Amino acid sequence: MKTILLIEDDPFLIDTYTLKLKEAGFSVEVATDGKQGLKKLAEKKFDLLILDIVLPQIDGWEILEKIKDLRFKIKELENLKIMVLSNLGQKEEVEKGIRLGAAKYLIKAYYTPSEVVEEIKKILTNDDNR
Ligand SMILES: [Mg+2]
Repeated sequence: MKTILLIEDDPFLIDTYTLKLKEAGFSVEVATDGKQGLKKLAEKKFDLLILDIVLPQIDGWEILEKIKDLRFKIKELENLKIMVLSNLGQKEEVEKGIRLGAAKYLIKAYYTPSEVVEEIKKILTNDDNR
């Protein structure tokens, strides 16, 4: 079973995505702020991170930078796929997310939860083919 960490602070989105992802057969853990998210990433190996950008304590940009720095030092992070799911949708923001290591950057307003789950399946399927 593929494991997903969702770092998100909006309770409605947490409920929605946790349910959707479990229905799709994924194991899901949630962190509601950046600090908690980084702690979970260091403790356990996940296949995919769904990352919000605007977060309490430590924001998504900082998390992306930390992962980029530590990817080859911490075994748990080596194969972690990252999907940014944010309201921030300026071109520069999307480019920054990709540059910092996100496999995909989705703007919340443009994707239904079902579409997001489809994108996640694509990311994790490509992973299997490698
Ligand atoms: Mg947020």
